[in-house]
Amino acid sequence: MSNPSILILPGDGIGPEVMAEVRRIIDWFGAKRDLAFDVSEDLVGGAAYDVHGTPLHDDTMKKAFEADAVLLGAVGGPKYDVLDFSVKPERGLLRLRKELDLFSNLRPAQCFDALADFSSLKRDVVAGLDIMIVRELTSGIYFGEPRGIIEEGNERVGINTQRYTESEIDRVARSAFELAMRRGKKLCSMEKANVMESGILWREVVTKVGEEYPEVELSHMYADAGAMQLCRWPKQFDVIVTDNLFGDLLSDAAAMLTGSLGMLPSASLGAPRDNGRPYALYEPVHGSAPDIAGQGKANPIACVLSFAMALRYSFDQGAEADRLEEAVNTVLANGARTADLLGEEGVTPLSTSEMGTKILEALDASL
Ligand code: NAD
Repeated sequence: MSNPSILILPGDGIGPEVMAEVRRIIDWFGAKRDLAFDVSEDLVGGAAYDVHGTPLHDDTMKKAFEADAVLLGAVGGPKYDVLDFSVKPERGLLRLRKELDLFSNLRPAQCFDALADFSSLKRDVVAGLDIMIVRELTSGIYFGEPRGIIEEGNERVGINTQRYTESEIDRVARSAFELAMRRGKKLCSMEKANVMESGILWREVVTKVGEEYPEVELSHMYADAGAMQLCRWPKQFDVIVTDNLFGDLLSDAAAMLTGSLGMLPSASLGAPRDNGRPYALYEPVHGSAPDIAGQGKANPIACVLSFAMALRYSFDQGAEADRLEEAVNTVLANGARTADLLGEEGVTPLSTSEMGTKILEALDASL
């Protein structure tokens, strides 16, 4: 049988730097855990525009369809700000999400003990935090029609439409219930059923799907109340499922509970293929960080943790994902810090590759 395949798209700015460390870790799993992957690499974003005049070549799109998982670094940078909207680096990422139909966006908010003091919240509120926000990614108000800016009388009106079909709610709810089954078996659904019809339908459909998951404790919360609860006592949650707009806001707020952008992974999942593996894109939440690109300062952990999510959600290797996350935890507990994580005086920051080496050493020690 052939090895599972991964398409790597390093992208722009710090993307290639953090991805180089992930490649070393992928190789480690092949050499030390008998878990070999067929890895191929291609261009996305500005890097693709420079060569092909488009941020995502059709051949790359085809490879993304064929790969078992896609791992992306970051796209964008000041050099490309002047480009037409249609060929901006971000369009490459949006095309991947759209054509792979990645409707379920998983954003963990996990607080490593060693970094609890980085949060703007008190240590006891965030220490040990481990929650997952599932955001619907392909529908809702960012895509609904009608939309636009129209003339009405003697003024202009801006219009966007929140629209959800039952099947769109059903499939993202299902992915959230499945996730809850693998975690703490608690799911909180957030909408605004008090003021929005789409919220009423959302609540109805999620409740109905919930009947198929009697082991999962389902609750509902208005999204504004949810935002308050996330800041007040986030540990009350396990998995949260919500729509595209609320998910955009809530996942950013929840992620920031835990500190640096350089620590945050994400996964975007679509429908399962014939082999059971979902279409999947894994990427750090951060961008291309042009201010530090090329200096070896970037924190590779967000990208490394994105690969851990790939191990768990694409390759059914939960124990190996735990091993990698634990290696990151150990490294941080031992005081290893890249520049973005520096708080304490007298600690010398590690370079991107030095942090990669520390993680590899911790992986070796885990055997
Ligand atoms: P950014 O996430 O690139 O950077 C914000 C700040 O966080 C910067 O100071 C940066 O140095 C720091 N930072 C980010 N990741 C880091 C890491 N791994 N290690 C250490 N420090 C890190 O956001 P931005 O500056 O607003 O955007 C820069 C470019 O990235 C823009 O072109 C933007 O469009 C693009 N962008 C891309 C994505 C993506 O590819 N998914 C996401 C956001 C922004």
